[in-house]
Amino acid sequence: MTQTNETTQERVQAYIKDLFLPPDEVLDDFEREAEAAGLPAIQVPPELGKLLNLLVRLTGARRVLEIGTLGGYSAAWMARALPSDGQLVSLEKSTKHAAFARSFLERAGVANKVEILVGSALETLPILLEREGPNFDMVFIDADKQSYPAYLDWSLRLVRPGGLIVGDNVIKGGGVIDPGDDPVLKGAAEFNQHAAASPLLDALILPNRGGQEGVLLAVVKQQTD
Ligand code: SAH
Ligand code: MG
Repeated sequence: MTQTNETTQERVQAYIKDLFLPPDEVLDDFEREAEAAGLPAIQVPPELGKLLNLLVRLTGARRVLEIGTLGGYSAAWMARALPSDGQLVSLEKSTKHAAFARSFLERAGVANKVEILVGSALETLPILLEREGPNFDMVFIDADKQSYPAYLDWSLRLVRPGGLIVGDNVIKGGGVIDPGDDPVLKGAAEFNQHAAASPLLDALILPNRGGQEGVLLAVVKQQTD
């Protein structure tokens, strides 16, 4: 990438941020607090948090599922968009991350709308299906990439027809184009292929981070589609 392009990209990002992401007392503290607590800085960027917030409202979602809570940053963006009787169920394997997330979501004023289930998602997803059936309006997949193909299968069982499946980090700097034997790249590449090929879905990848990353959006088709 040339110097000029990089500068333009940074300026455009700052322009969008200035216009659409005003200072937020709680959300702006996340990065510092999470770092102080020793959490990895792998939460969604603010503009993706805002996109998730808009998607919850666009789908009119009342029940949202998240796979991969970390410190509750993306969860806070989504929970804020839910109606007062709405619910976000977020799955996290690390007890440390879940504990941080609970206190962060408390501060963000949305703790009453978020349930965090601690455990490996491949173990909590079957429990969730048993408990709720296909009752989710939207799912945000953002945990270990190796399991993305399995998370897509579970999402198809848990999200209602007409609902939305969102997958984060599906481009990996272009690594998914030729994944070789890397299990992370293979997981993301397979996820993208399955989403593209599934007769149950209509999907697209939205590039972000200057094309280095991407978010996959997939609508679960209705019988009439
Ligand atoms: N969605 C968050 C970031 C999630 S980072 C945000 O944007 O704010 C990925 C998280 O997935 C980490 O906290 C990690 O502990 C969790 N994770 C990794 N493998 C998992 C698994 N098998 N089951 C559940 N959570 C997992
Ligand atoms: Mg992510």
